[in-house]
Amino acid sequence: MPVDSLRVISDLQALRALTANDDGAQRIAWSPTWLKARAWFQSKNGLPVEHHYDAAGNSWTTLQGDSDRALILGSHLDSVPNGGWLDGCLGVLAAFEILRGLAEDFQNKPPITIRVVDWADEEGARFGRSLFGSSAFGGTHTIEADRNRIDRDGVRLEEALRRCDVEIEGIGKAAAERTNAAAYLELHIEQGPVLEAMHLPLGVVLGTKGVERHAITFHGQEAHSGSTPMAVRRDALAAAAKLALEVRPIARKHPDAVATIGSVKTFPGIVTAVVGRCETTLDMRDLDAGVLASMLTEARAASERFAAEEGCTVDWSKIWSIEPIPFDARLIEFCDEAVRETAGASHRLPSGPLHDAAEVARAGIPTVMMFTQSLAGLSHNKAENTKAEDLSLAVQAFDRLARKTLSWVSTQEGTH
Ligand SMILES: [Zn+2]
Repeated sequence: MPVDSLRVISDLQALRALTANDDGAQRIAWSPTWLKARAWFQSKNGLPVEHHYDAAGNSWTTLQGDSDRALILGSHLDSVPNGGWLDGCLGVLAAFEILRGLAEDFQNKPPITIRVVDWADEEGARFGRSLFGSSAFGGTHTIEADRNRIDRDGVRLEEALRRCDVEIEGIGKAAAERTNAAAYLELHIEQGPVLEAMHLPLGVVLGTKGVERHAITFHGQEAHSGSTPMAVRRDALAAAAKLALEVRPIARKHPDAVATIGSVKTFPGIVTAVVGRCETTLDMRDLDAGVLASMLTEARAASERFAAEEGCTVDWSKIWSIEPIPFDARLIEFCDEAVRETAGASHRLPSGPLHDAAEVARAGIPTVMMFTQSLAGLSHNKAENTKAEDLSLAVQAFDRLARKTLSWVSTQEGTH
């Protein structure tokens, strides 16, 4: 049965109508709107599939095949606040459409098991912890480091999970879902400008860049803005601002590297006081682990130099990091074929944004991602969009990729 890409688009529109407001998508993980999106996804079922939420809140929809070996397709339904209508949802809804088509073609009994996963809290928008559910699945989640995270209203992560029936102590049990996993495929919007600039609808993702994410706090001296002469000030914001400018030349030494100071908080944060404390965050990414390490060393040295220049001190604490993760060579080839057969031309590129696929690949499961073009490269923004014809091609190409992978896994079956 040819895959029904129009149904995927109308599903995406229905989900947007249900979970977005004038500012964009509001499916923040562990929120009532997110639960509503998940309930909606479950309600559109109507197939002979098994469904459950695992110990970390990941949603699994399983069509049992002749073999227990499983082809997993998925992405995430959660969004950032004021997010777009495609980020994550495209991958989940396309995966479900492909499961539906395979169910029909194989009279509900494919040669291998097909599973659709909606990962819990990919974005980390509320607690700053990205890839929550997929890292629990992959066995890399550190409960101790994350238990006491709080959101801006003072709610602890542990408490927010409990309200969604997830016990933080038990999330490691999600690793049980890895049993029989043979391959993982994820379709996602690019969220960047590369494919659009090349006039290509689709691309093959080689892997995800490594990330170093740190909280950097400069400590100076709060002082009256009228009475404190410039020469004796210990202005924590001045030191932070120098660093914010310096990360650009640090990243630009490397072709694919990026570095961002995305958050700055000043204390006391009033118009009549010199800033005594300035809290910033730094996020750096590259495909090469050595490049990433050298950028980190440079940024740290620069922060100490600027702190000294401004009579301040600086301390660093790691928020989170992940090494660069290359995808599976065989699946990259399948993905490339599927893209060429569907769209005529293909392009291979790394992913700067993180994806659940990185955690799955890191767990040793053969993995690949397919990207579809993002208009103006925009994402995490209500303006996020992709041409309807490109969405259609994406679903068709992803269906091809799924079928190639299914054949490959089925052939391996004979040898087990
Ligand atoms: Zn996403």
